[in-house]
Amino acid sequence: MTIPSPPTIPFVDLTWQHAPLQEAIQGVIKAVMTQGDFVLGQALSDFETRFAAACGTRFGVGVGCGTDAIALGLMACGIAAGDEVILPANTFVATLIGVLRAGATPVLVDCDRATALIDLAAAEQAITPRTRAIVPVHLYGQMVPPQALQDLADRHRLIVFEDAAQAHLAQRDGYTAGSLGLGAAFSFYPSKNLGALGDGGMLVTTDERVAKVARSLRNYGAASKYYHTEPQGTNSRLDTLQAAVLNVKLPYLQGWNQARHAIAQHYDRRLAPLAECGIVTVRNDAGPGHIYHLYVVRVTETCPLGRTELQTQLTAAGVQTGIHYPIPCHLQPAFRSLGYGPGYFPAAEALSQEILSLPMYPGMTIEQVDYVVDAMVEAVFAVRSPVLLQEVRG
Ligand SMILES: *Cc1c(COP(=O)(O)O)cnc(C)c1O
Repeated sequence: MTIPSPPTIPFVDLTWQHAPLQEAIQGVIKAVMTQGDFVLGQALSDFETRFAAACGTRFGVGVGCGTDAIALGLMACGIAAGDEVILPANTFVATLIGVLRAGATPVLVDCDRATALIDLAAAEQAITPRTRAIVPVHLYGQMVPPQALQDLADRHRLIVFEDAAQAHLAQRDGYTAGSLGLGAAFSFYPSKNLGALGDGGMLVTTDERVAKVARSLRNYGAASKYYHTEPQGTNSRLDTLQAAVLNVKLPYLQGWNQARHAIAQHYDRRLAPLAECGIVTVRNDAGPGHIYHLYVVRVTETCPLGRTELQTQLTAAGVQTGIHYPIPCHLQPAFRSLGYGPGYFPAAEALSQEILSLPMYPGMTIEQVDYVVDAMVEAVFAVRSPVLLQEVRG
C-alpha cells in the first residue's frame, strides 16, 4: 500500500498564521484561566468594542457562530414569521439557515455570473408587499455595491442585514463591510480571514436597540439575570477564550487582507492568458477593498478541459482546490419544500458548475502561486496545444 504524500500547496495554511502568535495566544489563554471569566468575560467585551469599531459600527455582540449571528441578528432587527427576506441562491447554506431560524420566509434570487454577487435587479423584481429585508452576501470577500444596495433598500423601505462572514474589513466605494445595514453578521470559523480556534461569530450594529435585543437573545432571552423577556432566546455566546485569541489576531487582520490582495493580483496577472482557453477569474469590481477570502476562477464551457478534470489534475500535481459551492441553496435536498427547482436561477446554477477556488492564504508565496498557475497551464495546454504551451509558460 502506498501512502499518499502531503499536498505541495494546501488550500489553506493556518500554521503560518499561528506560529508567530503562539506565545501571545498561550499568554492570553492563561490570563483567562487565571481570571476565570469564561463566559461573557472581559476579553469578550474588549473584542466586541474593537471589532465593532474596526467595522465602523458602535456595537458588537459576540455569539457562538456566524449562523447564529445571522439568525439572532435578524430577530433583533425585528424580522419575524410572515416576513419575506431576500437572499442570493449562491451562498453558503448558513445564510439561508439563519433566515429560516429567524422564522422568516426566504426568497431566493439569482446572482451576476461574472462577479457571483447578488443580482440587485433580480432582487428588486422579487419584492412583494411582505418583503421586509434583504441579506446581501459579500461573497468571497467582495462587497455588494453599497450605493445601489442602499438605493434599492430606500426605494422599498427594506431592512439591510449583511452576511459579512467572508468580508472582515472588506471595503468598497469608501464603505466598510458591516456598516451598511441595520446589522451585519461575521463568522470567526478558523479559516475565515479572521478566525478563532474553533467556532465563533459576531453581530455588529450601530442601533442601540438591536444590540440590546441581540445581547438578550444570545443569553437565554434574559433582560437581566433570571428575568427573561425574549421568547426566542437561546444560549449562544462567543467564549471569552476565543475572544481573547481574536484580540491577539485583530491587529494583524488588515495586513493579512493586504497580503491576500497582493496574492490575488499575482494570480490575476498570471492567469490572464488563460482567458482565451475559457478560464476566467470571478470579476473584482471592488478594487483594492476586495479581501479575497477565496480566490475563485470559472472554468467555462470554452475550456478544453472540464472543471472536474482540471481539479483532478491539480490534485495530482499537489495543488488542493475547493468549490464554493457545488450545489446552490435552492437545489439542496433539505430545502426542497421552498418550492424551487432546477432552472430557477440560471446564473447561480451555471456558476456552481464552473467555479473552482484556488489556494489562498496570507503567507502563500509568489512561487507557490506560480506553481499553481503553471500546473493549470500544463493541464489545459496538454489537451489543447503543446505549441501554445511554450508561449504561455513563465
Ligand atoms: C462561514 C459562513 C457563514 C456561517 O458562519 P459559521 O460561523 O460557520 O456559522 C455564513 N455565511 C457565509 C457566507 C459564510 O461563509
